[in-house]
Amino acid sequence: MRTKLIAGNWKLNKTIDEAVALITSLNTSLKSLQLNNIEVVVAPTFTALNKVAEHLKGSPIKVSAQDLFWEDFGAFTGQISAPLIKDAGATYVIIGHSERRQYFNETDATVNKKIKAALKHQLTPIVCIGETLAERETGKVQEVVQTQLSGSLANLTTAEAEKIVIAYEPVWAIGTGKTATPEQAEEVHAMIRSILSQLFGNDLSTRTQILYGGSVKASNSKEILSKPNIDGALVGGASLKADEFVGIIASILN
Ligand code: PEP
Repeated sequence: MRTKLIAGNWKLNKTIDEAVALITSLNTSLKSLQLNNIEVVVAPTFTALNKVAEHLKGSPIKVSAQDLFWEDFGAFTGQISAPLIKDAGATYVIIGHSERRQYFNETDATVNKKIKAALKHQLTPIVCIGETLAERETGKVQEVVQTQLSGSLANLTTAEAEKIVIAYEPVWAIGTGKTATPEQAEEVHAMIRSILSQLFGNDLSTRTQILYGGSVKASNSKEILSKPNIDGALVGGASLKADEFVGIIASILN
């Protein structure tokens, strides 16, 4: 039985004070909900990471970084590593988000190095994959997802792969207001599960949490999250407003 996970990716938004205000409001609202088995994660900017983590001590909300570098320490100006992320209080890290692939030359090979660095330091990677509109329109969804998964998860043992969360995020649905229909998302999630089964066996594939990401909001989350292979959501824009993010979480409970 897979638990549901709702993760908020704050991207390049919120000062430290704004981040604390958002988390305070989230924490208060979530206290009135019975979360049962739902896991909640927020991913602030690096500068707010420690303050948010300190604020959330004792709360069921977990903290994630939005990226990491694969080396631990050294002459790598501007980079942040897994030990530093852990030291700041985070337990998750988003890896291979399409914005990083698009603007910062992230590839499946760099994603693979980052996953290994995260796992070495017991951070749970949320690994993002997904096709562009052109790839969908030319019938390449299966090929893209297969390539991204096998490249990103290359040379991992089953025990390592078991610790990973996958986020299926069709690039054309991120920040665009266009959402994949629940049926379109479910089809790709089932495809991902089948590829994971080929790569690591059926046991692992049935246990892996696969999140959907792409313009999820409180008004569309219930339908998407009720699909059998969709285990939660990676939420961008709608995670910046406490009401909206709580609405997404509440939609699974009702
Ligand atoms: C994301 O950033 O991962 C995302 C899915 O963004 P949005 O919800 O804004 O489409």
